Amino acid sequence: MLHLKTAEQIELLRASNMLVSMTLAEMAKIIRPGISTLKLDEIAEEFIRDHKAVPGFKGYNNFPNTLCTSVNDEVVHGIPSDYMLHEGDIISIDCGVIINGFYGDSAFTFPVGEISKEKKRLLDYTRESLEEGVKQAIKGNRVGDISWAVQNKAESGGYSVVRELVGHGLGKNLHEPPEVPNYGKRGRGSKLKEGLVICIEPMINMGVRSVKQMQDGWTVKTIDGKPSAHFEYAVAVGKNEVDVLTTYKYIDEEMNKI
Ligand code: MG
Ligand code: MG
Repeated sequence: MLHLKTAEQIELLRASNMLVSMTLAEMAKIIRPGISTLKLDEIAEEFIRDHKAVPGFKGYNNFPNTLCTSVNDEVVHGIPSDYMLHEGDIISIDCGVIINGFYGDSAFTFPVGEISKEKKRLLDYTRESLEEGVKQAIKGNRVGDISWAVQNKAESGGYSVVRELVGHGLGKNLHEPPEVPNYGKRGRGSKLKEGLVICIEPMINMGVRSVKQMQDGWTVKTIDGKPSAHFEYAVAVGKNEVDVLTTYKYIDEEMNKI
């Protein structure tokens, strides 16, 4: 059963995802070599609570923090810690909030200072693979059309797609049906209906696609120790076009500022 949202519910989801977008932009302002991932987490939580919202991940399946902070070969679900970011790191920040009972959920992978050309290209391809997937989120298409578009873009750059973790429906629950894999075949899977809200979140590896779960019960890392990137949008399936509920506009404005 897919939960289709009314226009009013989509507006509530837009507000939740806008706060996530703003929180990620706050992170863009402060990410630098020497700041700890726990400090980022504290600032994000304060920002979210100042906006009369509740962190969406804290306590979810006992996750301890507001953000998932995943550095370099960490794919997703990294736990904020006293690790201090280094020049040349990349860090995926995944953030969730709840406002008026509806979740926001989005992620962005940030460079820390100057990063290598190889890492920059991985970030560019991963973000573009998300954009390619998003274009397919229209009424009448199937989940597989999104999956294929993401996979095709990522693999065209020589990268591999993580298969163990997938995108998902979003609403009053953080994870609703359908699953939205980042690999698959066109024309397969659930049909996309108007009012369906989903998170599309490619996790793309520079090396092999295999990942491993760490002993903390959360952090997922690449098996070969090579870097991984992660970008996530929440989108509503529209009649003729996709309605993207997340925006990177404020992040891009921060990052292009010298
Ligand atoms: Mg997320
Ligand atoms: Mg998600």
